[in-house]
Amino acid sequence: MRERNRPLPGSGEFEPAGGNDPLLGRLRELELLPPKTLKLMVTGRCNLSCRHCWPACGPNGPADVPLADLQRVLEAFVAVGGEAVCLTGGEPLVREDWRLLVSAAGALPGLRHVEFQSNGVLLDEPAVEFLCGYAPSRLEVQLSLDGAREETNDRIRGLGTFRTTLAALERFRARGEGRRVVLAMTETGWNFREIPELLRLAEEWGVRAVQTGTLVARGRGSGAAAPGPPTPEQVTWLLERWEHDPEFRARYERLGSVAAIEWAKWRDRPRSHYCTFIENLFVDAAGNLYPCTMYDHPEAAVPGVFSRPLGEAILEGAPFWSRLREQSRLRLETPGPCAECAGWRHCRGGCFGRRAAPGSGEPGREDRCGIRRAVYGQPASGTAGSGANP
Ligand code: SF4
Ligand code: SF4
Repeated sequence: MRERNRPLPGSGEFEPAGGNDPLLGRLRELELLPPKTLKLMVTGRCNLSCRHCWPACGPNGPADVPLADLQRVLEAFVAVGGEAVCLTGGEPLVREDWRLLVSAAGALPGLRHVEFQSNGVLLDEPAVEFLCGYAPSRLEVQLSLDGAREETNDRIRGLGTFRTTLAALERFRARGEGRRVVLAMTETGWNFREIPELLRLAEEWGVRAVQTGTLVARGRGSGAAAPGPPTPEQVTWLLERWEHDPEFRARYERLGSVAAIEWAKWRDRPRSHYCTFIENLFVDAAGNLYPCTMYDHPEAAVPGVFSRPLGEAILEGAPFWSRLREQSRLRLETPGPCAECAGWRHCRGGCFGRRAAPGSGEPGREDRCGIRRAVYGQPASGTAGSGANP
């Protein structure tokens, strides 16, 4: 995840387009950004049962969302100015009608970009051919791979998954479509040291990018069989490699995105942005609407989005989300438990959603505090990021 400044209320950039639209007008009153992206969980089912799966999907996960309901949400999202959608699961390919779903998204004139997230196992030749029927700028495929080595990936994602995912990637490459693919890795204590090697392989494989995200300790990700997040020592090791290995550094600039490295790059720059919800909406397979993928906490959910207009659901959630936005703004000025941290000016307590997660470490600090402190040269404080398995 790359750090970036978001437009602030009053900056001019914040003013949403379509000033006369009642929904957008209400959002403006509440100083909420209009939605631009939507992460849509199209099923809770998955053909895998990865150890770290945060929504805890699997073969018996929540049923597929009816296609008609998904179509309505997509249309309504575009009608309020939405620009990009991420179709995720579970595994979208377990749906028999997944092609109809992609076609529905692909046919929406206002939608500029579709991201299709998959574990790759079911991406056979006809499936790849179908996805390649869309321009790469319009449809991107994200494949999950949790390590550079077969044994590491398969220990997390299941036996045989490394080879099947690479076989799917090979199908894209054979069509000259390798750069349509982005590899996604969940950072854990088991695979973190494989990031440089994964980037080297990814470049060989010709994918467009490698994006990593730190394990979220919810769902199966919090269970005894989960790998645990990277340790501060592992983060320090990666940063030293990034500082002293010009080849890795150059490759990282070409295709990498690792939060710890991004923090290190910009650690001297104070963070001035806060969560301006609801630019990046999330809808789970049960029909709950959240103001952000990382803020999928029950108190922020608006239920029943598949059985009523999206705009109505947004209006219902907006007052609470606006209060969250204000709390997030106030946090910039209120170090609280972070007062002694040398990284405070850059970190500001970290991701608001990850901070608020139940069991996410000390109140006021996000769950990656331990690895963030490693970036800022602070001793670990016993919060998450210090308990990875070997
Ligand atoms: S992490 Fe992805 S591939 Fe693994 S069980 Fe969860 S939804 Fe399925
Ligand atoms: S690294 Fe931890 S202690 Fe420091 S500002 Fe971030 S959350 Fe607070």
